[in-house]
Amino acid sequence: MFKTLFKWFILVFFFLLIFGCHKKSANIGEDKNVSINYPVTNIGVLDDKISSYINKVYLDFKKNSDSSSYLDVSYTYRDVNEDIVNISLTAAIKTNKTFYKIKSFTYNKKTNVFLTLEDIVKDVEALDYDVKKALVKYYRDLDMDYLNNFNLDNFKFNDDNLTIFINFSKLSGKNKVINFDIPLNSIQLLIDIDKSDDIYFSFKEKNISLDDKVVAITFDDGPSKYTNGVLDVLKKYNVCATFFVVGDRAYHNGEILRRIIKEGSEIGNHSYSHKKLNNLSEEEFKNEIRKTQIIIKDLTGTVPTLFRPTYGGYTKRLMDYTDLTFVLWDVDSKDWLVKSKEKILKNVLPNVKSGSIVLFHDNHVYSLNSLEDIIIDLKNRGYKFLTVSELLKFIELKENEWVIMI
Ligand code: ZN
Repeated sequence: MFKTLFKWFILVFFFLLIFGCHKKSANIGEDKNVSINYPVTNIGVLDDKISSYINKVYLDFKKNSDSSSYLDVSYTYRDVNEDIVNISLTAAIKTNKTFYKIKSFTYNKKTNVFLTLEDIVKDVEALDYDVKKALVKYYRDLDMDYLNNFNLDNFKFNDDNLTIFINFSKLSGKNKVINFDIPLNSIQLLIDIDKSDDIYFSFKEKNISLDDKVVAITFDDGPSKYTNGVLDVLKKYNVCATFFVVGDRAYHNGEILRRIIKEGSEIGNHSYSHKKLNNLSEEEFKNEIRKTQIIIKDLTGTVPTLFRPTYGGYTKRLMDYTDLTFVLWDVDSKDWLVKSKEKILKNVLPNVKSGSIVLFHDNHVYSLNSLEDIIIDLKNRGYKFLTVSELLKFIELKENEWVIMI
């Protein structure tokens, strides 16, 4: 099950990156193997560029596709400041190979001009040289002369980095996107960048490299009288987790929810009333999600991007009703069933591998009682703890091969 889910994670990951503010997005593609989402900005020249790029990607895909192919285009949108918008379109493509393509547009609404890296960074030549030098060092079959004609105009921002995307397929036929993270404080910018509310995950901060073993522990069905105890243990060992909360148990537990966020853990949505979901109507299902989203946002100011279906039951139909990423697990503590610390340890510890998502419930005392032993054992085996969103990001980075420039 995890393998399928893992593949799915990669595909849907980019939905996590959809930044707010744009008013509309559009979807094309009548074909069941094609999902294309892109922003509609109502800026004519920008919308034209986006749609002609999308059309090109779609037509190229159609030329090479068969029944097992797919095309999935998603995007990030960011108001960099009052005047400048930045949009990156990511196409996940499977034809005879599976690969990604990224295209960015940076547009100044005030001057009506598309911006290149030169308009953003003061000493663009030095940056260009550094990036290409890093690329040559990393991929020895490339040479600087060849790279000289290659522009670096696909990029996006977060609060800490400028990320430059290089579509490697153009360079050497290797179908990969290389991502260069350039810390903003290491370059001189020619524009202002407004702070965003995006959740940004810094490997450096967590001291994590892509070679590390990572695990995400998750707690369903809370908050409850045991949740603070769980948080105490997490805090003691300086690890984070993801709490999939039930709306009607969350609304009177604002303190606990705020503590979860404050201490570096993540909150996901686990429906409002913990019903079985498969037989719900579209309206009922959307209500289960919406009510809990509102409660979490009101109490914490954060908006979950993850959904854990109750009883692990989900269908494609339900997934289509929401932009939230469905998250299951590959290691089940069965805490509610076995009601014993020894059995929980046995269910969990031998089964964790790097990338695992472990299921616990914070409305049972048994998980709380076994948590300390589990953390100690996993730490001793070299595991680093991530929230589920971080784990998804980690998987995506590993898949796409990021080069982090420090
Ligand atoms: Zn549950």
